[in-house]
Amino acid sequence: MSHARIVTLRRPRLRFGEKIYLGAIVKGFLLTLRHALRTMLGKSAGARSLNSSGMGVTMQFPEQRWDDRMPEYYRGAPALVTDEQGRERCVSCQLCEFICPPKAIHIVPEEIPAEDRWSKVEKRPKEFEIDMIRCIYCGMCEEVCPEQAIYLRKDYLITGLTRADMVHDKRRLYEIGGVRTGLVNKWNELK
Ligand code: SF4
Ligand code: SF4
Repeated sequence: MSHARIVTLRRPRLRFGEKIYLGAIVKGFLLTLRHALRTMLGKSAGARSLNSSGMGVTMQFPEQRWDDRMPEYYRGAPALVTDEQGRERCVSCQLCEFICPPKAIHIVPEEIPAEDRWSKVEKRPKEFEIDMIRCIYCGMCEEVCPEQAIYLRKDYLITGLTRADMVHDKRRLYEIGGVRTGLVNKWNELK
């Protein structure tokens, strides 16, 4: 039979100055002041990268934007892409809808008619919506997609006057997504 070992921890005794947090507050103010001065003098890391991009210390948004300076790995709005012939890559498997943590994706699949040349693909999305109020830009939809049909693009100016405006439908998703070249398994006649 094992005996539980009791460990008694001694709480450190705080001095009066520590109890009223005054020292920590002053230290916080000094740290903030140091960062503010470094930024004003263009010496902070953010200020250096803005300076080297030719924008000066402060970006004058919306006249100035990151647009063409966005790194390739930037995670902006998720969107659907077509292949170079304008065909939709999505096979409506709904894996992205299943994996999406905040349940921002809603898909209504439809069957591809038997007379269609690509009826072997079986499904395509009749409706495809992403609620951008819910989306957390995690990129899991992109990770899980077996057809490389959904990507997080560089679009970061997602605005709308109503909640309905913030729900991107299929047309809007293809508008943001554009074309993505490369292998698409479903167009392979032999598979
Ligand atoms: S980026 Fe994340 S939260 Fe947004 S739609 Fe994709 S899986 Fe959902
Ligand atoms: S975007 Fe990709 S994961 Fe989502 S339903 Fe279409 S094929 Fe499946």
